[in-house]
Amino acid sequence: MEAPVKNTELIDTAKLREEFPILRQKLNGKPLVYFDNAATSQKPLSVINAVTEYYETINSNVHRGIHTLSEKATEAYENSREKARSFVNAESTNEIVFVKGTTDGINLIASSFGNMTVGEGDEVIISEMEHHSNMVPWQNLCRQKNAELKYIPVNDDGELMMDEFRSMINEKTKLISVVYISNTLGTVNPVKEIIEIAHSHNIPVVIDAAQAAPHLKLDVKDLDCDFMAFSGHKMYGPTGIGILYGKEKHLEAMPPYQFGGEMIKSVSFDKTEFNILPYKFEAGTPNISGAIVQGAAVDFIEKLGHENIHNSEMKLLEHANNLFEEIGGIRIIGTAKNKTSVISFIVEGVHPYDTGSILDNLGIAVRTGFHCTQPLIEQRYKLPGTVRASFAVYNTTGEIDLLADGLKKIKKMFL
Ligand code: PMP
Repeated sequence: MEAPVKNTELIDTAKLREEFPILRQKLNGKPLVYFDNAATSQKPLSVINAVTEYYETINSNVHRGIHTLSEKATEAYENSREKARSFVNAESTNEIVFVKGTTDGINLIASSFGNMTVGEGDEVIISEMEHHSNMVPWQNLCRQKNAELKYIPVNDDGELMMDEFRSMINEKTKLISVVYISNTLGTVNPVKEIIEIAHSHNIPVVIDAAQAAPHLKLDVKDLDCDFMAFSGHKMYGPTGIGILYGKEKHLEAMPPYQFGGEMIKSVSFDKTEFNILPYKFEAGTPNISGAIVQGAAVDFIEKLGHENIHNSEMKLLEHANNLFEEIGGIRIIGTAKNKTSVISFIVEGVHPYDTGSILDNLGIAVRTGFHCTQPLIEQRYKLPGTVRASFAVYNTTGEIDLLADGLKKIKKMFL
């Protein structure tokens, strides 16, 4: 038996759920309620089938053979790049690099652009709410360069403190990298404003859009960001594939990140000429099937429509907020005015791990712990962890009711 479906207003959720076979199963004898979407989303049949179709029909290496299969695979791979370009509204496919995911994309920027931009005594600004993958690469770069890493502080509601940010910028600031939507707090950051401020000082900005890609329309032209990275697997696509957007002028000026096949134009015993964009950054045989199937994920999102997705998810968040308030004794971490469908919380007096494992016994999958933002949880909020429920477009208010019932049980057990 499937979890009850109630919210059918904006998107026909019952129908949509038929496209997600994994949601039909029972866990621990209970219908699966999957609320760990910020970690990875489930995949629709169109995405699952695209994997099989690729291997059954056109599996071949790209950009190499002149044989028909290779041409077909190359065409599908490049079509998917074009879909990604359009998905983020980039000017050219030269600005779209296939990477393994957000982490890989940010490491590429830090190793290549960061290395050539940041020197001894310089400063890099990130924020206290960054995921480890938008923190550790910059810590590493700054340590190597003897540069300073500064953190935009976060207020009690989980919002960036913009006045402090403004006053942190000085002539030593060489780069800013911030998260669009926090995976832990759900905060949607004012990235356009951050970019405007940074650009008025000629400072380039990197946007970690891992959580934004499934929820918001991404528009690199409107934002005018210098770089943006996101992962396929959080937006209904496969694991092991992600997109790195970079302004062409930056990518042209940057040295390659990895070296080998595909990223070269010509090689002699003495020297190598690198390939044109974007291949200069795609060394070795890429994740061909991942890249092609990522195109199916883009199609899935665009068919539903960003606005419908957003409205549907905001209804879920509102429903959860109302129920949590009714239950009482639940502390929500992250109460920003501009939020998306992520709700981090603690049942007062109950360790997050206990809450998480009891919910798991009830068939409800939530994330517990630091959510890869250990400094934010431990140092900024002084917490042992949180429980995080993150909603996707296929979730229902009925499922949130089950979560609320579970939390009531937990309160009775512990208090
Ligand atoms: N940034 C944010 C905000 C994230 O939520 C995540 C994944 N949890 C990442 C970066 C890293 O993404 P990936 O593991 O797919 O590289």
